[in-house]
Amino acid sequence: MKRILVTGGAGFIGSHLCKKLLEKGNEVICADNLFTGTKRNVEKLLDNHRFEFIRHDVIRELLVEVDQIYNLACPASPVHYQYNPVKTLKTSIIGASNMLALADAVHARILQASTSEIYGNPKVHPQPEEYWGNVNPIGVRSCYDEGKRAAETLFFDYHRQNGLDIKVVRIFNTYGPNMSMNDGRVVSNFIVQALKGEDITIYGDGSQTRSFCYVDDLVDGLICMMDSRKGFTGPVNLGNPKEFTMLELAEKVIGLTGSKSKIVYRNLPQDDPMQRKPRIDLAQKELHWEPTVMLDEGLKRTIEYFKKELRVN
Ligand code: NAD
Ligand code: UDP
Repeated sequence: MKRILVTGGAGFIGSHLCKKLLEKGNEVICADNLFTGTKRNVEKLLDNHRFEFIRHDVIRELLVEVDQIYNLACPASPVHYQYNPVKTLKTSIIGASNMLALADAVHARILQASTSEIYGNPKVHPQPEEYWGNVNPIGVRSCYDEGKRAAETLFFDYHRQNGLDIKVVRIFNTYGPNMSMNDGRVVSNFIVQALKGEDITIYGDGSQTRSFCYVDDLVDGLICMMDSRKGFTGPVNLGNPKEFTMLELAEKVIGLTGSKSKIVYRNLPQDDPMQRKPRIDLAQKELHWEPTVMLDEGLKRTIEYFKKELRVN
């Protein structure tokens, strides 16, 4: 049994991670400022004596005795991370700095939830970990992209300078239950629109691609990485390499929900990446990990979740 801190533990991915770590018999401390996360996501865990929730903002220091830290605290949806971009950048950089200082002080292993966004609008396709990316440093997505890039830098400098035991994963688009209804990301938007019979909003012409990973697969990957051999730092891509256009996704969601919603087209947001698909050879080799839940199955499970949330049949 380990004592584990999960920052951003009341968010979408964090709540699944906390649950899984408890199921494995660990003690879990969830630290979250509830900006995009909610206590509802972890309410079923609150009765467990091995679970603790702390309302905490990672831009402030934290001292807790733990063996492992998963640093997930950061809004992930473009709508939310652009709401207060200065705060987003501070959360990524100062938050990472504080969690690294904590790991250093208590000799904990620390994992950073980085992102495929560090590849920007990629000119190499699919994206291997060696690719340095194509990121606009001053655009509307920069607070997130550059924040996550700087956080990776801090992780590797702490590793080189202080010998810290670090793990860096680059997460590609992940979806599933516990995404918030007003999250703004494409999977939750399309499902909620389809279930409500509202227009499905495709940004641009719908030819841009993403590769969607179901949250259970992702959480398994995070834990495999945290428990991987000492010295394997990553960065390692975690994602599902099956690639879809947004138009294909919209059609799938309409088909699976049986919705009568129409597809409508809206402006493509600035710097929206045109393609994204992970190379996962490294995760397969080092972690013996690969996704098992295909998009149709993952969408069905997510649709069931949103049906309950929206109280529709
Ligand atoms: P989310 O918004 O649901 O969760 C983020 C959590 O962090 C929320 O609970 C939020 O309240 C908390 N948080 C935000 N700022 C904080 C702060 N300053 N102090 C403490 N807590 C704070 O998003 P998610 O999809 O669960 O993403 C979790 C992590 O994974 C993020 O770091 C994100 O960048 C990364 N990631 C996610 C995806 C994805 O597709 N879901 C892809 C790439 C990377
Ligand atoms: N998108 C869309 N309609 C929506 C929400 C998003 O067409 O209602 C598009 C968005 O422009 C992007 C893709 O879907 O091209 C994925 O967007 P998301 O915000 O989920 O993630 P990210 O852009 O960070 O990969």
